[in-house]
Amino acid sequence: MRFGRLVTVVSVLAAVLAAVPGESGAWTVGTGLTAPCHERITGSAYTESVLDFAAPNLEVPAGDTWRLLSDYLLEQFPVDRDDVTDVQRFLLVSLMAGVRAPDTDGHSITNLENLRLLHSDPSAEGQYRHALRGRHDDYDAGNATAVEGTRQMILTLVGQGEDHLRPDEQIITIKVYLDFYGQVDLQVYAPMFYVGQAAHALQDTFSHTLRDWADDYRSIVHVLNYIDAIGTDMDETRDGLAHSNTMDNCNREDMAVLVDKAVLATTDLFIAVRERYAGRDPDAVLTVLDDWVTLRPGCTLANDFCDNSERLAVARIDQTEPYLSSVFGCNSAGAGGAGGVGRIAILLLLLLWVGVRARIRNR
Ligand SMILES: [Zn+2]
Repeated sequence: MRFGRLVTVVSVLAAVLAAVPGESGAWTVGTGLTAPCHERITGSAYTESVLDFAAPNLEVPAGDTWRLLSDYLLEQFPVDRDDVTDVQRFLLVSLMAGVRAPDTDGHSITNLENLRLLHSDPSAEGQYRHALRGRHDDYDAGNATAVEGTRQMILTLVGQGEDHLRPDEQIITIKVYLDFYGQVDLQVYAPMFYVGQAAHALQDTFSHTLRDWADDYRSIVHVLNYIDAIGTDMDETRDGLAHSNTMDNCNREDMAVLVDKAVLATTDLFIAVRERYAGRDPDAVLTVLDDWVTLRPGCTLANDFCDNSERLAVARIDQTEPYLSSVFGCNSAGAGGAGGVGRIAILLLLLLWVGVRARIRNR
């Protein structure tokens, strides 16, 4: 098989894409199974708590794909590969596949069209997977609804993982996207795959909400909005602050404190899931949510979200704009016609590209 080359291709692409600004609505995601934000945060939490994750009676599947991907993933962790068992490798691949699933769903993240569609899943649940407001989560009450929706989503995902603990339901086959290879079938340990998705939502509560400096960023003071921000009917008073591309970038210095907290929360989640799945503490995940995903009420734009003007200033840098207006550049018309023409050319190229892809698919 050509998977040796595949892994090399993935590594090279990782380096290339690291230099390209992220186009995702969540902590930046890498292509293939690579290292940007969600992966980095998960990786930091992983070595602390997952290596001793209990997966009783798990028999790893035959086949090369997961094993080669695990080789690649382990290069990024400060562990001696010889000390890592096959079961631990399989858990790692399953977890990372889950962590990236909400942002890619088996598609290429270099395909802007797919990414927009995924992130504009109009259902409220589609937004809660990323700790964002649903379309009808308006005004102050919308903060509470979105926080509660995100908590329920995390509990649901952990519950789905638990449902797959039975030996005959542990292994499922999912699609992952690897550049140049397209969609590839990957077998994963289902409980860990769902835990990865829960971790994604939890991590997004650090990039898609404003948190309170007064309690060391444990509580949320405001939930951002993506679904209305990409449309043409966004009203900040009603819909909340627009999603901020700045806050999705875990390499920024002004996000470092929140990245650290996201690692702590993710570690807490992994330990809690381990305790719950082992039957030792059924409420462990709820405790983590009470520690990390609660709303401090009464914080509004008028009071700088309870004196969090520093976080507000970061959120204000590079907020998400209506999709069409940002492509056509209406609001940057003052910069001269050339920019607008360039953007229209990009749009046409995109449409052309989408058309070509659709035709190839129809063959
Ligand atoms: Zn996300």
